[in-house]
Amino acid sequence: MRLFTATLATETNTFSPLPTSIENYREAVFLRPGEHPTNAPRMCCAPLFVGRARANKEGFELIEGSCFAAAPAGTTNRAGYETMRDEILDQLEAAMPVDGLLLGLHGAMVAHGNDDVEGDIIERARAIAGPKCVIGVALDPHCHLTMKRVSAADIIVLYKEFPHTDVVERAEDVLDLVLATLRGKIRPVTSVYDCRQIQSYPTTIQPMRGLVDRIKAMEGKDGILSVSIAHGFPYGDVAEIGTRVLVIADGDKNKADALAAKLGEELVSLRGKTQPPSLDVAGGVAEGVAFNDLPVVIADPADNAGAGAPSDNTDILRHLIDSKVKNACLGPIWDPIAVRICFDAGLGAKVGLRFGGKIAPSSGQPVDAEVEIIGLKRNARQTFGPAQIPVGDCAAVRVGGVDCVLTTNRTQATGLELFTNLGIDPTQKKIVVVKSTSHFLATYGPIAKKVVYVESSGPLCHDYRKLPYTKVERPIWPLDQDAKPRGLIF
Ligand SMILES: [Zn+2]
Repeated sequence: MRLFTATLATETNTFSPLPTSIENYREAVFLRPGEHPTNAPRMCCAPLFVGRARANKEGFELIEGSCFAAAPAGTTNRAGYETMRDEILDQLEAAMPVDGLLLGLHGAMVAHGNDDVEGDIIERARAIAGPKCVIGVALDPHCHLTMKRVSAADIIVLYKEFPHTDVVERAEDVLDLVLATLRGKIRPVTSVYDCRQIQSYPTTIQPMRGLVDRIKAMEGKDGILSVSIAHGFPYGDVAEIGTRVLVIADGDKNKADALAAKLGEELVSLRGKTQPPSLDVAGGVAEGVAFNDLPVVIADPADNAGAGAPSDNTDILRHLIDSKVKNACLGPIWDPIAVRICFDAGLGAKVGLRFGGKIAPSSGQPVDAEVEIIGLKRNARQTFGPAQIPVGDCAAVRVGGVDCVLTTNRTQATGLELFTNLGIDPTQKKIVVVKSTSHFLATYGPIAKKVVYVESSGPLCHDYRKLPYTKVERPIWPLDQDAKPRGLIF
């Protein structure tokens, strides 16, 4: 039995001011066969590592293709996309015959000239691998679950957790289902329900926590093989955006239909009820300051690099400085030039520094201040689940009562190391501001005595009705208040 694996992944925010080129993949994950590290299951590459770990004892040969992944940002350059895609497809062609595919994709990648990159890759892979090949795909729940990709794949499994702490487990699920299909033990049939809604679904809090736990308990019982909720990615202007439910049953299409419809209807009933409320900057900071324990973690989802934002908006920072808040820390601010200046000045130096607020109008104004350089760290990393995220060279500067972490890699706050690398202990801060939507909760959730969500003027506007969509199929909630679910579409 021969399985081929490869990865091509990014999350495309079509509204982001930062385009994505092949250079952004080279800076993140750009690994050819023979270059894959021994154990580093970085997000979308997990199928390769899971396949490699199980190949020998489960009696299959794994042919390792290329893995390309870039940090979320704007639309990927067309020539760059086609170069990476064709390299993987050429590897597949050379590897034929193969019995199965394990593809680690993201699901919300857009290239110039192609709004459904994953559908394109899976369809072309099918044309090469033939109708009998079992194609298994792992996707991020922030995907556009298009009919093209559902039609061309046999097995699609999405991460269940947001923050995405179950990337490796879901890659195991894909491999389990591909192997069971190839061995004739199961006959997967898929159903998809379209809720016609755009919404965010953090799963560490109710009601989603309970729903995810119930879904997990359904799998492997009563003919249900896998249940996935496509949250959808609100910042991709593509036709098939939105929340969909995908159920894979063993041979019984009616059973898959019934469960997809039941769960889809439940999600429709949760419109407007899955996200914590957010406050304006002044209100959110005041609520944090007034709280009588520490730390209070304030999230800035509108400037989350993890969804394509620059991570250099200064709204909250400026408010903390102006209102003379004491014992606060904030990060990450993406500003490679300011980091370079801090390294040149040296630890302990006090310098006049301009930082943040540089990339786009949605970044706000830069901060000009006398700062003390309190921490410097080269090649810093932070944890995210089993992964180590490179943060690049980092500098911590103290301005008033705020210790601010500046980075050379554009990334969101996932691990406490973002601060502790530079000698800042977030557990002892009154206010900890993190640029992130939900991934921060994996490590900042447990230390936070309180979490507050603040809406800065960063580009990831929480009110989707204000986004300049042009391609999204209508009606869809909340753009259209009375949008009805479409029901079963596959
Ligand atoms: Zn995601």
